[in-house]
Amino acid sequence: MRKTQLAVVGGGPGGYVAAFRAADLGMEVTLIDEEADPGGVCLYRGCIPSKALLHVAKLINESREAAAWGLDFAPPSIDLQRLNDWKQQVVGKMTGGLGMLAKRRKVQQIQGRARFLDPQTVRVQRTDGVEEELRFSHAILATGSRPAAVPGMTVDNIRVLDSTGALELSDIPKSLLVVGGGYIGLELGSVYAALGSRVSVVEMTAGLIPPADRDLIRPLQERLEEQFEQIMLETKVVEIEAAETGVEVAFETVSGERSTRLFDKILVAVGRRPNSEDLGLENTAVVPDAKGFVPVDGKRRTSESSIFAIGDVAGEPMLAHKASHEAAVAVEAIAGHKVAFEPNAIPAVVFTDPEIAWCGLTESEAQRQGVAVEVARFPWAASGRATTLDRGDGLTKLLIDPGTERVLGVGIVGAGAGELIAEGTVAVEMAALARDLTLTIHPHPTLSETVMEAAEMHFGTSPHLYAPRKS
Ligand code: FAD
Ligand code: NAD
Repeated sequence: MRKTQLAVVGGGPGGYVAAFRAADLGMEVTLIDEEADPGGVCLYRGCIPSKALLHVAKLINESREAAAWGLDFAPPSIDLQRLNDWKQQVVGKMTGGLGMLAKRRKVQQIQGRARFLDPQTVRVQRTDGVEEELRFSHAILATGSRPAAVPGMTVDNIRVLDSTGALELSDIPKSLLVVGGGYIGLELGSVYAALGSRVSVVEMTAGLIPPADRDLIRPLQERLEEQFEQIMLETKVVEIEAAETGVEVAFETVSGERSTRLFDKILVAVGRRPNSEDLGLENTAVVPDAKGFVPVDGKRRTSESSIFAIGDVAGEPMLAHKASHEAAVAVEAIAGHKVAFEPNAIPAVVFTDPEIAWCGLTESEAQRQGVAVEVARFPWAASGRATTLDRGDGLTKLLIDPGTERVLGVGIVGAGAGELIAEGTVAVEMAALARDLTLTIHPHPTLSETVMEAAEMHFGTSPHLYAPRKS
């Protein structure tokens, strides 16, 4: 039987970072995943292919918007084959690179599915049909998540797609219904809208992207209302039926109004479920919670002392960077270092146009928790850089502790908000004061100045807006 010091099950941004960090610390590591090269959902069918397509969508939209500045481009002619080839090249570059890095670090890789036989052994059903057993001192469970289903909506990836099917981009449907107004629905809905589909979104709650503050959503919703055919809030799909030319969908609003419409295709994007089944966890002391997440402590230890869990399978938020940071903590804990996963801020970015990004405390969370905060807002209409980009629709806001003036949270909506939030995350993580942001010289003209100017708004000293602080 093969033996290893550390077995990592799952090769996503949790698993491969864990394997690499462990190898760097001198451990003998075996990484098990169904793909030949590491990458997981994020690289093969998540973050990376979706952002490649969103880059294409941005270019298409900007070429249209340029007409207002006197630049007229002909409508793009879209070669889906070449577009898909390019997207696959992007994925291949990244996963191939990770494969090489795994070899250079001497990480043993087994291509297949692992199942725990006991707290120290997994059996791997290799993709070449051979079964093998692997004995380990420690294991890290990094099996990720999969799309959640809606009862009555069977994903066939022909008419009814999940995110994986939508990313395959087999055609550009004339009409697309997106079920779920969250990250995936709005990101991939934006891609299809830019490529020419008439996109409608149905969201069961009262607003798009429920965890984000409403003032951040407003500019996005206004833009999406122009790009999408319809946004239906507080509405549910109650029935779908295959028709000759598409799918007939019945909707019901919260007030009980019913309607039906025909769509070429449906994208189901109603959240993701952790992959904690069929892993043989019943042969260990690990017991997933009611939602299927594996409970872990600050070091990412499960209730089985030899097994750690990280990433989507270990709980919300289901984000790649959270998985990677947990990976480092778990490995260092195994190595005996004094570590814990205790971030002040995990940034969240929705890569729509405008992008929405936030970290630390949100205003709605502060209200829910009864935490007193002062909110300083800087509208991008007063930003020189935003004006040169014709993107005055953004907003940067800071949540500030009234007593200490510490920055507790940052929220941004606007072009490139996903890059800008990094400064906010450093501020929250380092317990920066609003004054620190005003005293830090930001380059001009940049959108990053909006973070400094939001802090200036707190003190009533923003040069670009007249809003003196009331004493
Ligand atoms: P995963 O990346 O899910 O990897 C788990 C791996 O384990 C998979 O390869 C799986 O096949 C393998 N596995 C499962 N069971 C077994 C087993 N028994 N044996 C062996 N291997 C197994 N997050 C962001 O932060 N930014 C984004 O922009 C972003 N965009 C996304 C876009 C889409 C369309 C989707 C679907 C997700 C996106 N996410 C994004 C979320 C991100 O992909 C996940 O949070 C991240 O991949 C989680 O990493 P992980 O390592 O926990 O698991
Ligand atoms: P989500 O949780 O972001 O959004 C799902 C939405 O569907 C919610 O607004 C929910 O209210 C709604 N919904 C649920 N059931 C519904 C129903 N029956 N009818 C109508 N609406 C319904 O989930 P997602 O968009 O599937 O993405 C899954 C996860 O993947 C995200 O939560 C995130 O963790 C990750 N992700 C991240 C990024 C990023 O970081 N940019 C991008 C894509 C995915």
